[in-house]
Amino acid sequence: MKTIFRRSFSGFIVVILILVVLVPILVFNTIESKLNDLALINLTRTAESLEFTFASMLEDDPAELDSIADELGRRLNLRITLISRDGIVLADSEEQPDIMENHRTRPEVICAFNGEAGTSSRHSATLDRDMLYVAVPVEIGDSIPAVIRTSLFFSDLKSILQGIITDMAIIMLVVLIAGLIIAWLFSRSFADPIRNIADVTRKVGKGDYSIRVAPCSVSELSELSSDINGMISRTNELIEELSGKNISLDAILGSIVEGLVVISSGGIVIHANRSFRRMASAGDHEEGFGYLDFVSNSEFRDFIGSVLNSEIVSGEVKSDGNTFSARAADIPETDQFVITFRDITEIAAIARMKRKFAANASHELRTPLTSIKGYAETILENLSGEDRRYLKTILRNTDRLIRIVDDIRILSELEHPATSLDMSDVNLEDAVNDAIEFFSGKAEEKGLDLIFEKETRIPIIRADRFRIEQVLINLIDNAVRYTPAGAVTVRIGARGHFVTIVVSDTGIGIEEEHLLRLFERFYVVDKARSRNRGGTGLGLAIVKHIVTLHGGWVRVSSTPGSGSMFTVGLPDTESP
Ligand code: ADP
Repeated sequence: MKTIFRRSFSGFIVVILILVVLVPILVFNTIESKLNDLALINLTRTAESLEFTFASMLEDDPAELDSIADELGRRLNLRITLISRDGIVLADSEEQPDIMENHRTRPEVICAFNGEAGTSSRHSATLDRDMLYVAVPVEIGDSIPAVIRTSLFFSDLKSILQGIITDMAIIMLVVLIAGLIIAWLFSRSFADPIRNIADVTRKVGKGDYSIRVAPCSVSELSELSSDINGMISRTNELIEELSGKNISLDAILGSIVEGLVVISSGGIVIHANRSFRRMASAGDHEEGFGYLDFVSNSEFRDFIGSVLNSEIVSGEVKSDGNTFSARAADIPETDQFVITFRDITEIAAIARMKRKFAANASHELRTPLTSIKGYAETILENLSGEDRRYLKTILRNTDRLIRIVDDIRILSELEHPATSLDMSDVNLEDAVNDAIEFFSGKAEEKGLDLIFEKETRIPIIRADRFRIEQVLINLIDNAVRYTPAGAVTVRIGARGHFVTIVVSDTGIGIEEEHLLRLFERFYVVDKARSRNRGGTGLGLAIVKHIVTLHGGWVRVSSTPGSGSMFTVGLPDTESP
């Protein structure tokens, strides 16, 4: 590629060469034609001024004509020839007239005998040289007895032109050398600052921010230089600021107890903090390598692999007796994602203990409570009045306790990691019919309509029938309990790849602020009301657990005062 210097210097050279070659040619041509004109004028004037001398000598002293012509020719440095009308040379300053051939047919002579000055340039047969001729008539009275011809050797003109050419060549050589020197200096004055700017920006690109562009005398380049210097300073400040931030970010990430790793979608580890290295046995491996080389712990490797394959975004990683809760998130506008690992070993142990305790306690409490209930019912038959009322209260609370104990047992069973579903082909229509049948007495007691709506195709799904019945019972139970008047409707339909069970009612409804927390354990909207209606706050938590175990979902929508609608989606195993 051409440099700016070469480009501008070669441009200047072309211009200089054109000037140095073209100008002399044009000037030389002009000078040559002007010199020719001048010579012709001079020859004509000289011939005209000699006319008088030769006219009188022709008449008075014709014998002296040749010697006069010789003398005048020598003095004027011209060739002078006198030719008579019949073409005989009467006198000639360069040759003997008597040996010269007849000149009658010479064009300039013919023209002069016609009364006008004649000119011609041609080879002289007499002198064997190129010459320029002018002939004027010698007039005596009305007749033209002879013509005077003045002539010049072309070689004389050429020697003048030769001198001009030599002078011009010297001048042009000086112009050429001076032009080249000026062009070289001029091109340097452009190219040097630009090269300086390029050198500086290259060094800045390599990370040297201490360098600056030198000042320059060309105003535009000087502006550019100072702009670039400003840019370098600002970039330096920004980089210092950024690296400061980076250092503190590294320090922060390094000191947090959660393990954190940033991975590209291609599996390259971009950043890993100290805690992650410890958890995943990554040691002091350098970042920038694939996670398979970086992470030695196979459980962590498997989890990262599943995230990379978009199979999961969160989960638990169990390794060497420890449990880590892991969560992955995309980093916006990059192809990277960050995974955090939190050590939940203690929390998991407490949860395990709680589950075990709940299971044991509910198991241990169920037998005495059933026996209390049995004895109380037996005593009730023999009691009346106040005592009967007290015992009824004891019985109602015992029922409630039994319900709570049962719900706790069910929940702890569901939450146990080893819980498996007893899957079989379940006919939902049968299951809903059974549940409706179960609540028909209660609904009738409250004067509620219990309606079952179904689509034409009710699919058979793969599910745990006992658990699905539990879902239906909990939802219909709530609907009946929280609906003072109107109807409870169960509808089976389909949405995408899911079979849906919708339980809606015309009951008291739920305020929006409670909807998100409704499926939490022991969450009740109104404690007193729930207790009065025999609620435990566990029914919906159980529903959510069962549905999730089936790979489904549950949603609620409600309008306070108008009713609620619970929708359960279960995977449609018959769907293509
Ligand atoms: P509970 O045993 O108290 O009914 P759930 O977990 O089944 O516990 O329900 C949680 C809370 O959700 C209830 O206390 C109740 O306030 C509200 N709820 C559940 N179903 C309905 C419904 N169909 N209509 C109005 N409120 C409901």
